[in-house]
Amino acid sequence: MLANPKGQGNPSSFTRLLRNSVLALVIGGSGALFAYCLHSWDREEREVRDNLLIQSSFLAAVSDAFFSNLGNGLDPLGQLLDKCGVLETPQACRGLLNEFQNHHPEIVAMAVFAPDGEMRINTAVKPGNPLPDFRKDPPYINQLLKDMAGHAPYIVGAPEFGKAIRRWRFAIRHVVRDENGMPRFMVQAAIPLEREGTFLHELPMPPRSYIGLLRSDGYQQARWPIEDPSAIYGRLSDEPLTQAIRISPGLRAGHIRGDSYWGNLNAQRLAAFTRIEHGNLFAYVSAPWIHVWQQWWAHNAAVLLISLVFLLASSVVAQRIWRREKLHSEELVSQARRDALTGLPNRAAAEEMMQFCIDMSHTLERKFSLLFVDIDRFKDINDSLGHALGDKLLVAIAGIVKDTLREEGTLTRLGGDEFLVVLPGRGVDAAVGIAERLIEAFKQPIKADEHSLQVTPSIGIAQFPEHGTDIYTLLKHADTAMYEAKHLGRNRFSVYMDELGERVTERVKMEQLLREALQENLFQLVYQPVVDMRGGRIVGAEALVRWVRADGTVVMPKHFIGVAEESGLIIPLGEWVLHTALAQVNAWNKAGHDLWVSVNISPRQFQDPRLVEKISAALKQSGVSPERLGVEITETVAMLDQEASTRILGELKSLGVRIAIDDFGTGYSSLSYLKRIPADKVKIDKSFVDGINLEADDTAIVHTILALAGVLDKIVVAEGVETEDQYSALLALKCQLAQGNWISRPIPPDEFASLLNRRLLIRAA
Ligand code: C2E
Ligand code: MG
Ligand code: MG
Repeated sequence: MLANPKGQGNPSSFTRLLRNSVLALVIGGSGALFAYCLHSWDREEREVRDNLLIQSSFLAAVSDAFFSNLGNGLDPLGQLLDKCGVLETPQACRGLLNEFQNHHPEIVAMAVFAPDGEMRINTAVKPGNPLPDFRKDPPYINQLLKDMAGHAPYIVGAPEFGKAIRRWRFAIRHVVRDENGMPRFMVQAAIPLEREGTFLHELPMPPRSYIGLLRSDGYQQARWPIEDPSAIYGRLSDEPLTQAIRISPGLRAGHIRGDSYWGNLNAQRLAAFTRIEHGNLFAYVSAPWIHVWQQWWAHNAAVLLISLVFLLASSVVAQRIWRREKLHSEELVSQARRDALTGLPNRAAAEEMMQFCIDMSHTLERKFSLLFVDIDRFKDINDSLGHALGDKLLVAIAGIVKDTLREEGTLTRLGGDEFLVVLPGRGVDAAVGIAERLIEAFKQPIKADEHSLQVTPSIGIAQFPEHGTDIYTLLKHADTAMYEAKHLGRNRFSVYMDELGERVTERVKMEQLLREALQENLFQLVYQPVVDMRGGRIVGAEALVRWVRADGTVVMPKHFIGVAEESGLIIPLGEWVLHTALAQVNAWNKAGHDLWVSVNISPRQFQDPRLVEKISAALKQSGVSPERLGVEITETVAMLDQEASTRILGELKSLGVRIAIDDFGTGYSSLSYLKRIPADKVKIDKSFVDGINLEADDTAIVHTILALAGVLDKIVVAEGVETEDQYSALLALKCQLAQGNWISRPIPPDEFASLLNRRLLIRAA
């Protein structure tokens, strides 16, 4: 009936696998992407560095060529100037200087100095105009005289602000000497410190990068681009490259990374440098570190974006699957708390509810109570009418109980035919009120399919905290009280008392003893003679079971039939009774007596779907003719499901078996039903026989039953005849058969035989 959670587990295990795979893909993919990023970044940085290095070496080579070309070209120019007599007639030699300058467009001015530092001509100063006199400028003249004294083929001078040309420039100088090696004059070419127009402007560079030449003494020789030359030239630089050169003067080429204020940008930069072959100069190129980033992004953006989109999509898919799974498991949880058949909260939910009530009751010091409702003989209904109908009946019962509760308390289904009402904040009194209402409500027959069933509840009541302070004790005690209600005759309620617990233990013990008794064959049958009232002859016997314990004490049926019923042991016991009684009647008949025997069929036996089949088999096995067997069922059993009992009794009837309605008058038989039911006999209950001649009502009832039976063509048996008066009265009322202690107690077979042999005849007065 309940949905199989394992069955629902299959799709969820598939989605779990799917979700895990997608998650693994996302995690693995993210890891791979991260590794790829690191690797590609590393590669990109290396590439940028390598490029910078190539550019710096190119810059070094170009600068070297430029200096050599210019510097070496100054030597022949110097000789020409000497010949021309530049010291004596400088303006006559201006043409030579202009011509040289024209050959070297990078040069802005050519100048010639006398050995004492006096400027003799400058192409930037028009003839006739006064020439600047550097002899009044100590640092300048000192350097010039120092260069004049040097013996290098040419000198690349430090950047200076050119007074004649009024811009930053550096000079390449060459000293012309006489035969004795004494300086005759110095010829100088001034190169402006702007990239445009120099040999460097063609160099392809990353944006925001700097190129330059650094002197090994730490001064900048040239630098492009530049915003404020005064801030750069003529000052000792403390940039990373300068520091590196200072630490290892032999450096030739390499990379540097670090903070730099090259330019105005105080940011991380990458730089590469190469020493220039001739002269103490380094060519360097630096690019902002962000350039690596830009390069990396430009090269990897597509791959990255595609991967990210893919990972994002996978994450969304995984998240969707996870959410669906969560919803599904929430649904399962709520299903797990609901009873699949009735939709009521199930046992787990009931226990949670009780725990909540216990917690609340502790804090608020309030009591609460439980009603444990069990449907009487529900198993029999299930067995005889089928589980499908049983399910429908349970649903209908749940509806009735719910309606009867009228919002007081919560109804839950513990399982099978067991329901539990949790009544928060209410004690036993309220629970009893509800129990009474429930019993009243069940008086109406319940419709299930074409059946109209008369079912009754047995209700056990327990209260917190008097009957238990934890859910399990409370439940156990409510259950015990319910069993007590059953024991007291069902269709009632019982409130838990401490003694009930003991009684339950006793019943469990009894069940075990019965089981053993059945195995050890400790049951016996006694037979109570049934006499034909007119002739006083014994015509038959009712077989009645006794339990003879090992110590010889005899246990009467009223002490054990109930437990045998509840435990189901009545089924094998009943079969034993049937076979034994048939064997006995067979023996009597073989001995020449014309007798029948009747056996009692308990409600549980009557619900046994194989009852008819078993009886028929027993008859065949014993060889007793069916009309010599009688079955006694109580009218309550027959009334439980009238359709079903009519059918079963019909089948028994067609076997030829005689049917008797036992304890007639104590149940609710309707006359119309009595008419329909195929019974042969009606046994008037002892309680009516007891009152005969004493209670007018009882006499009237017996009279009525006899009259009715006469009309319906049924034989009447009077049960429990204890006195001669009763016998006479019944005889007078034309009752056909009688049994009772006045005639004979139920007796063992051997006594019965001697009774038969004495041919006992009863003569009523
Ligand atoms: P029952 O079928 O109504 O059986 C009649 C009961 O009345 C028997 O009690 C019998 O001993 C008792 N009785 C007969 N005459 C008198 C009398 O004059 N005075 C008094 N006080 N009692 C009398 P017993 O044998 O104790 O059986 C009680 C009930 O147990 C039976 O009631 C029957 O319902 C059940 N029972 C007995 N044997 C079996 C059995 O083999 N199978 C089943 N399923 N139920 C049985
Ligand atoms: Mg009986
Ligand atoms: Mg009876």
